[in-house]
Amino acid sequence: MMRGQDLIDKLGDKLAALRGRVTPNAEMDKITWFRAGGLVEALFQPVDEEDLAAFLRAVPEEIPITVVGVGSNLLVRDGGIPGFVVRLSAKGFGQIERVPSGGIKAGAATPDKRLAAFALEEGIGGFHFYHGIPGSIGGALIMNAGANGVETRERVVEVTALDRKGNVHTLLTDDMGYSYRHSSAPAGLIFTSAIFEGVPEDKAAIKAAMDAVQNHRETVQPIREKTGGSTFKNPEGSSAWKEIDKAGCRGLMIGGAQMSPMHCNFMINTGTATGYDLEYLGETVRARVLENSGIRLHWEIKRLGNFRPGHAVQEFLGQLL
Ligand SMILES: Cc1cc2nc3c(=O)[nH]c(=O)nc-3n(C[C@H](O)[C@H](O)[C@H](O)COP(=O)(O)OP(=O)(O)OC[C@H]3O[C@@H](n4cnc5c(N)ncnc54)[C@H](O)[C@@H]3O)c2cc1C
Repeated sequence: MMRGQDLIDKLGDKLAALRGRVTPNAEMDKITWFRAGGLVEALFQPVDEEDLAAFLRAVPEEIPITVVGVGSNLLVRDGGIPGFVVRLSAKGFGQIERVPSGGIKAGAATPDKRLAAFALEEGIGGFHFYHGIPGSIGGALIMNAGANGVETRERVVEVTALDRKGNVHTLLTDDMGYSYRHSSAPAGLIFTSAIFEGVPEDKAAIKAAMDAVQNHRETVQPIREKTGGSTFKNPEGSSAWKEIDKAGCRGLMIGGAQMSPMHCNFMINTGTATGYDLEYLGETVRARVLENSGIRLHWEIKRLGNFRPGHAVQEFLGQLL
């Protein structure tokens, strides 16, 4: 992997006109909720959409660019991420406002919780579920984030994105190709904002629904731990946590990584976990569930970057190979 400063030097003047900050060898463990993982060659934080478009035009297409939100669904491997990571700044991408259609427009860096709070202020119902999701709108759009029986796809009506060449695109809900915790929108798009719609609702009722979401989470999820939320998607006809529990993996520990004793589909960094520990634990759980019930769990958490040399982790620990 090229060292960060070499990458920046190689691009030279191309980056000079950018207004956002470029940081070589940035520590991804400072960004992810897991507080684990290696470096990215260079981090770019654009100040606004124009700056982001200029960056995308300046960086040759053979150099990989990965966008991240607030890192609440990310496992970064210890060998780090090649190329650039783009992280949208709250200043440039965190605006939230009503639009003439009556909907709510939110920048991609807006925290989901802020969208829920804004909808409450405006008396618009249907956004209480975002109160319990710690990610940003960009992450919610690609993950089809959901909770309490509601998903992003039921509220979003229009998404604005930039492609790898810096061109602006508008996508309607159908263009996002949504399914459970997944979007098949064209790869490589960076979402910059989205418009959401709900229905007018009494503020007291919205507040009560938000409080219920929070109270429930406090009791069933390890929300104050270093975690990535649900590790695996629920398999057809069952719940990931039930299968993990049946396979005897509740509380299972590898290095500093553990399947939470409180909610066994949540993986936690107990303090010293590496990206390797977390991924090895995840694949151990997949292998044991496969052996126990024949079910192949699929990761909900997104894994990014390269393994540290000699520390690759095989899917299902190679059990299927
Ligand atoms: C305690 C806890 C509870 C959670 N509960 C839930 C829950 O109830 N429901 C749920 O759905 N999720 C839940 N999550 C997971 C997580 O919060 C969501 O997946 C969230 O939508 C991720 O948003 P993020 O900003 O953190 O994205 P990141 O984790 O930073 O990135 C996730 C993915 O989104 C992509 N991405 C981020 N921003 C953009 C952008 N602007 N354009 C294009 N792609 C982008 C990244 O490339 C990556 O593939 C939970 C996580 C934690 C830690």
